[in-house]
Amino acid sequence: MSTTTTEHISMFEQVLARFDVAANLLKVDDQTKEVLRNPQKTVIVSLPVVMDNGKVQVFQGYRIVHSTLLGPSKGGIRYAMDVDMDEVKALSAWMSFKCAIANLPYGGAKGGVTCDPRTMSVGELERLTRAYTRSMADVFGVDKDIPAPDMNTSGQEMAWIVDEFARVIGHLEPGVVTGKPIAIGGSKGREEATGRGVMVATLAALVKLGLDKNKVTAAVQGFGNVGQNAAKLIAAQGIKIVAISDHTAAYYCKEGIDLDKLTTYWASNKRTLIGYTAPNTVLISNEELITCDVDVLVPAATANQITADNAGSIKAKLIVEGANGPTTADADAILNDKKITVVPDVLANGGGVTVSYFEWVQNRAGHYWSLDEVNTRHDASMTDAFNHVWQASVEFGASMRSGAYIVALRKLDAAIKLKGKY
Ligand code: GLU
Repeated sequence: MSTTTTEHISMFEQVLARFDVAANLLKVDDQTKEVLRNPQKTVIVSLPVVMDNGKVQVFQGYRIVHSTLLGPSKGGIRYAMDVDMDEVKALSAWMSFKCAIANLPYGGAKGGVTCDPRTMSVGELERLTRAYTRSMADVFGVDKDIPAPDMNTSGQEMAWIVDEFARVIGHLEPGVVTGKPIAIGGSKGREEATGRGVMVATLAALVKLGLDKNKVTAAVQGFGNVGQNAAKLIAAQGIKIVAISDHTAAYYCKEGIDLDKLTTYWASNKRTLIGYTAPNTVLISNEELITCDVDVLVPAATANQITADNAGSIKAKLIVEGANGPTTADADAILNDKKITVVPDVLANGGGVTVSYFEWVQNRAGHYWSLDEVNTRHDASMTDAFNHVWQASVEFGASMRSGAYIVALRKLDAAIKLKGKY
């Protein structure tokens, strides 16, 4: 078992720790390593916004383009109090790897604003989003950098972005942002896409592990866009969800959580799970959820949830990472020692950006697909990505995480060499 501690290292260093393992296995040269260790572009803006009380509050906004080696950069925008340069940098690098693994013609980027959206009114959020878009208008572009939703942003923010961007450039460019509501050029299936990808990855991994989906149980951490859709889609496949949580509460029910009842409660309770009651359903702690007796654990909440402190107590045989960065680099070693299969974030949650790509293609073609067409293409793409990663992990006798980074590194290394340098 690992005794080194990397828990204190920054999120970007967590990325580099994984990157180094794969780069060494693949024997990537120093030039490629150096290029990928340094994001291509970093933009920080100050956004003065008039709040409802008439006072101006200045917010910090970020956009980091990690790479455009494989195409225009792609990645979401998150609104949260812990958003900072380090986090956005880590998330931007993960997008480069994620897009390469999903075989999309995209580089990677990420954006964020340090704010607490739960305390802000709709008007304040709109003014903040428009100010951010205006400040980033030089960075964004349908062939340059294409944002999307991430933590605490959704179709509404994307609608403000597409509108504000159109005001800046003087015409509508629907493909400049994805994850838009369907009414203004969004794609069918985009809303559920990340959860759907988690479901497809879970089923593929269960087959590899020889586990019957109708006999396994799962715990899902998180009830946002990813957790909620993943839980519902996984349950629809016959997998019993026995534990679920959000940032306010976690519940366990041996017979299986009633997700319809839970969702109705959540919607009527300001989109929180606290206070929910149901027969045989008990309130548990977040730590109990992570270490509960299940076959499959889906961390779909936030980063750094599976750490060196709790990894040793995890009972699941399979972890499917719906969130970005839910496992620390230190915990990787412990999970490997315990022979727990981890479908890493850069593969498992790639369904979202895959359907973002389909949205961008539809916007550019001006031709829109049926839900069935989107889902069929998505499932095939996710399955291919899963198989490539699995093959790479077998080839190198490494974890699926290292296999995933290897798949990405091969493509990025080839692009660096082909494009040359000056
Ligand atoms: N924010 C999502 C992610 O982390 C989606 C990004 C996108 O669709 O561009 O993958």
